[in-house]
Amino acid sequence: MHALFSKKPSKLRLICVVAWMKGLLCTKWQKTSMALLRSIVLLLAAGTALNAYPALNAVDVANNQSELALSRQLQILEDPSGQLTLGTLLAEPQAWRNNATDSLNFGFSRSAWWVRIGLRNTSNTTVTKVLDLGTPLEDEVDMHIVRADNGSEKPVLTGDRRPFNTRPILMRIPNLPIVLGPGEQLEVYLKLAAHDGLHEPIVLKLWKPNAYATQMQTETTVLGIYYGALITVLLYNLFLYISTQDRGFGFYTLYITAFFVWSFTFRGFAFQYWWPDSPVLNNQILPLGAAACFFTFGLFITHYLDTRHSVAPWLHNTLIGTAWGSLLSVTPAFFNFYALPFVLSTPLEIVMMGVAMIAGVDLMRRGSKPARYYLIAFTLLAVGVVLYYLRVLDLVPSNAITENFLQIGSALEVLLLAFGLADQMNTLKADKLKAEREALASQTALNNELEILVSSRTTALESANQRLANLAITDALTGAYNRRHFDTCFELEVARHSRHQTPLAFCLLDIDNFKRYNDHYGHPAGDEVLKQTSKALRGLLNRTGDQFFRVGGEEFAFVLTVDEPLEKVHAFVDHLRLALERLSLPHTGNPAGVITASFGLVLLQKNSPTTSTTAVYALADKLLYDAKHAGRNRVVCQAF
Ligand code: GH3
Ligand code: MG
Ligand code: MG
Repeated sequence: MHALFSKKPSKLRLICVVAWMKGLLCTKWQKTSMALLRSIVLLLAAGTALNAYPALNAVDVANNQSELALSRQLQILEDPSGQLTLGTLLAEPQAWRNNATDSLNFGFSRSAWWVRIGLRNTSNTTVTKVLDLGTPLEDEVDMHIVRADNGSEKPVLTGDRRPFNTRPILMRIPNLPIVLGPGEQLEVYLKLAAHDGLHEPIVLKLWKPNAYATQMQTETTVLGIYYGALITVLLYNLFLYISTQDRGFGFYTLYITAFFVWSFTFRGFAFQYWWPDSPVLNNQILPLGAAACFFTFGLFITHYLDTRHSVAPWLHNTLIGTAWGSLLSVTPAFFNFYALPFVLSTPLEIVMMGVAMIAGVDLMRRGSKPARYYLIAFTLLAVGVVLYYLRVLDLVPSNAITENFLQIGSALEVLLLAFGLADQMNTLKADKLKAEREALASQTALNNELEILVSSRTTALESANQRLANLAITDALTGAYNRRHFDTCFELEVARHSRHQTPLAFCLLDIDNFKRYNDHYGHPAGDEVLKQTSKALRGLLNRTGDQFFRVGGEEFAFVLTVDEPLEKVHAFVDHLRLALERLSLPHTGNPAGVITASFGLVLLQKNSPTTSTTAVYALADKLLYDAKHAGRNRVVCQAF
């Protein structure tokens, strides 16, 4: 007879309870009170039909509650061999105990676990309920309904180690519809078995069918939006990778892909839609997907934070080592071991996350912007993961926030890291642009400098050339044009006169008794006189076209472009002569007592016959000679 319908305590149960109390009370300090307690227990056991194991309470399904948590209403029984059958359970007393937690956590356990729930319909109408297992991942779930009148129904044998279509309703989480007639009460027995010793946390709930449908619909919509966001970011990063060939986007795309496949399987969608007939593959994908997540995350984060160059080598090496370790630790999954990969990889992944956190904090403290994005993203994900486990371990209550924060956290993480990547790309682009601008600016500056240098050098060269050219035509002592330049210019002037019939005056002058001067005052003093004479006369010859030359030792010549009659030109030259005399350079050997000069002036008038430089020069020389003979310090002139 099964529990709900049994009212009498069996003999065996009584013996058990006594033995149990004995064990409990065999400590030294309790010896004195032991007899007393034993008698109380015996009294209670005999007098109150107390079961050794707690009785199973029946949950009333008649009320209109849309959702009912069953965790604290059920009893559990460990079946270490996994060999117990429903028949045995119903026939023989078992060590059932009340469950006192909000979720069933069998964790790493090789035993099968039996769960039983009593249901009672106190109304006079038929009530239909849906028993929801709460996890898509439990391996083998045998669900039995035991009715008082017609015994046990055909069991539903499902779980994610059995083909998907074993489920009464094809949904990602196994469930069991239960119909209770008016006043009926029944028991539900579940056998939960794990393939190789890893059970899923289970939160059993009893739903009103329409509320259950609404709930599943909402969950599917929310998760659909979540996966939609993941896929969008995935595709966005894939396109970015294709167009930029930046490995950061490549690793990130792989990471989101791995995460998506893992999550889609973890939530039971992959089994429902992708491989409903491949339970083994479905179970392999979970450790594979998780390992791929950590592996690709490791690759991404080392690239994203550039840990090879930016943090201590041990941090980088640990990240790379744990990434590869986590990938390798998944090998047993290929040989159909499910629990072992998690045992091997979890410590590596915890180390990896810790090290990635240290690297991120270190880089952020040093002002890294990518590290800031990463840390915020990482913290959100970490909060999600921690809340998830706290909820699974029953340490925080199950509510909308704790149930969904893993999704919210991971979605935000994915988005933030995508922002981080985009920002990194922008920073790189801005840096590149800045570098290009700087290069251009420095090139322009260099060009300008070069231009300035070239132009100043050119100017310097030009003025040097000018100086050289001037030097080449200048007499070093007196500053007058030299004999060579005279030859060129005189030729030109006479030729121009011949061609254009422009009037031209040519005058030769020679300092009087200069030999005596040298003899008396010395050669350096003579040089000084030559300088003074040249300076004085050049100062007076300032009309355009006037040119002054030193043509011999103390002989000078000048060319004047004139348009005046001979008398006027003569007067001008005489004015020059007088100016020299008035310099009053003392010369005792000269009758005037000062330096004087004699001038031979030729005026080539308009329409004068064509002539040669030699002839003109010779005439001027003759006139100069005449001036000397006539007593010096005078101008003798003639028109030609
Ligand atoms: P005259 O009045 O007839 O021209 O007499 P003079 O002594 O000036 O003529 P002469 O031709 O006999 O002498 C020219 C002198 O000019 C000879 C030479 O010592 C002097 N002399 C020529 N070139 C220079 C020079 O560059 N510097 C100096 N100090 N003397 C010079
Ligand atoms: Mg002379
Ligand atoms: Mg002389």
